[in-house]
Amino acid sequence: MKCIYCLEDKPNNFFVKTEHVLPQSFGKFKNNLTLNKVVCDECNEYFGNNLEISLGRDTLEGMSRFEHKVKNKHEFKSSGKKNRINIKVDEGPFKGAYAYREYSDLEDKIIIKPIPQVGFKKVDAHNYEYFPLDKIPDKQYLEKHFSLNTPKPITVLGCTAADAQKHLSEKNISLSSNPDGEFSLSEKPSDWGCVVTARIDQIIFRSIAKIAFNYLTYWAERDIGQGFVFDSSFNPIRRYIRFGEKISFPFVVIIEKAIMYDEPIVGKRKLGHLITLDQSKNKLSIVSDVSLFNFNTYSVLLAKDNKWKSFSLRKGNFFNIANKEVLELIPRDMISGQEIIN
Ligand SMILES: [Zn+2]
Repeated sequence: MKCIYCLEDKPNNFFVKTEHVLPQSFGKFKNNLTLNKVVCDECNEYFGNNLEISLGRDTLEGMSRFEHKVKNKHEFKSSGKKNRINIKVDEGPFKGAYAYREYSDLEDKIIIKPIPQVGFKKVDAHNYEYFPLDKIPDKQYLEKHFSLNTPKPITVLGCTAADAQKHLSEKNISLSSNPDGEFSLSEKPSDWGCVVTARIDQIIFRSIAKIAFNYLTYWAERDIGQGFVFDSSFNPIRRYIRFGEKISFPFVVIIEKAIMYDEPIVGKRKLGHLITLDQSKNKLSIVSDVSLFNFNTYSVLLAKDNKWKSFSLRKGNFFNIANKEVLELIPRDMISGQEIIN
């Protein structure tokens, strides 16, 4: 038996786990698409520990799981310090402060809390600019850009004054002459609007590419034949997914497009995940579009080869969050009907 990712031949008992086309952390669906005996347990485990954990905990789509009750709020886990998601308070007395999300037992909801940081009073302004403790600029920079000699020039958030002082002392800045005490964002956390930005890196792109390649495998097995995905023109994409090896052009790009033909680029769309498979418009490659929660549309280049000129496998599935059913979609030019791909 051969694994579609590492291409290693392994005995039957190395293919025990079921690989889900779409990670189960994004929903458990009734008629889910799964792969059996084609992804070895070692690759399956690697993906779970290295790709899917970040896709789930450290993306805007992952955050949406709680909002749409795909995940229970009690299961909320922070992605730790190396966060791809950046939350900044956008109003109120702590405007500009950095925050993170955490499940609160007390309030029984996910709340925002300040990360350990200090704010310096801006020149000619009443508000502060905040810096995480490990990113405090040098004294020279601070003296140039901030009013350090006015009352309450420094404010401390998310940690004790002593913690902040430790980091400030390294920069020869003293807090003791202007102790400002500790503030806490958690006083009325839900009252403050925040700006959330997310960094999408190669780990996230590889997780998306894996969904796309799993999807190709799922349909190729049924409609073309088992050996199809072992073709060498898929080696670059599988090596990218499994080992992070890059080539001169990106495998995954974000495109400004709704996958459903009747949905807007910006605005309300149906609630669910979407995956499609088709030729590229110039017929020179096989592409798959993936959208989790029908939010960002990622376009994945699965293979670029002239020999796929006549590739005719065109598929689409909609993973309905509300009723947990997986629905098959039909390309717009093949039929006129209800749920149609662009
Ligand atoms: Zn493998």
